[in-house]
Amino acid sequence: MTDADEGSDGTAFAGDASPSAAALEPMREALVAWYERDHRAFPWRETDDPYAILVSEVMSQQTQIDRVVPAWESFLDRWPTVDDLAAAERSDVVAFWSTHALGYNNRATYLHEAATQVVDAYDGVFPKTPDELQSLMGVGPYTANAVASFAFDNGDAVVDTNVKRVLYRALDVTDGAYESAAGALMPAGESRIWNNAIMELGGVACAKKPRCDEAGCPWREWCHAYQTGDFTAPDVPTQPSFEGSRRQFRGRIVRLLGDHDEMEVDTLGHRIRVDYTPDGEYGREWLRGLLSDLDDDGLVKIDDGGDRVTARLR
Ligand code: SF4
Repeated sequence: MTDADEGSDGTAFAGDASPSAAALEPMREALVAWYERDHRAFPWRETDDPYAILVSEVMSQQTQIDRVVPAWESFLDRWPTVDDLAAAERSDVVAFWSTHALGYNNRATYLHEAATQVVDAYDGVFPKTPDELQSLMGVGPYTANAVASFAFDNGDAVVDTNVKRVLYRALDVTDGAYESAAGALMPAGESRIWNNAIMELGGVACAKKPRCDEAGCPWREWCHAYQTGDFTAPDVPTQPSFEGSRRQFRGRIVRLLGDHDEMEVDTLGHRIRVDYTPDGEYGREWLRGLLSDLDDDGLVKIDDGGDRVTARLR
């Protein structure tokens, strides 16, 4: 993000593709609704127990998520509460870590030490703020914020690699502005659902190879990358091979319709590709296919008035 302006609601966004302050609320609502409709069912998303969430965060630091699930369940079967873990032999915790191939054993040591701290220094009750959580052994800013968000709904906007990729592509945010952009986007006081939702977007839809349409990304109508066809990102330095793809043309259609109340389809066709000829290979039939897909996705409405067929954003 460059040349940031202060929006009317105090948010800082700028650049051609950045959303107006008025667009922020629909973007927030669209993302949360998309997340609530469907998301990966990780068991730690079903709990607000800070101990269980801390265990999941520490395990996820070095281990693929599908292997974390059974390890997390076994760990909590064996040590269901922070008191149980604090009372455990450290060597047993380390042995568990090794057996389940969870990465560096010092993480098991730190986790055990953190449990001991919670029991001894906090009477067994987890602190609730990111700052206090960072006082626990091995708990850095990212993990502290994740626990504060997911256990207490009391965190800041998460900024990890996935979230940076989303912000870069969708809002043209660049280095130095990720924290402020992520914070401005997050609805105040809703860190639990918001961080889950935007991390899900980065993991499922806006992956290195983006799945904008397949995943029904809720931000397509606002997304800079989707509209320009440039899907590079900080961790994706070369363009994924979408040049000339249907996705790129869908993006152009959405961008053009965003600038017009409605457009007649041939006019639209000529604007999105120079070789558009109504009866040719890339003509009305091809364009109607794209528009129908966008219609099915709830993005575009086609008005077929016989002689004059028009399209507009819904
Ligand atoms: S439209 Fe595509 S590139 Fe844009 S945020 Fe969604 S998944 Fe990412």
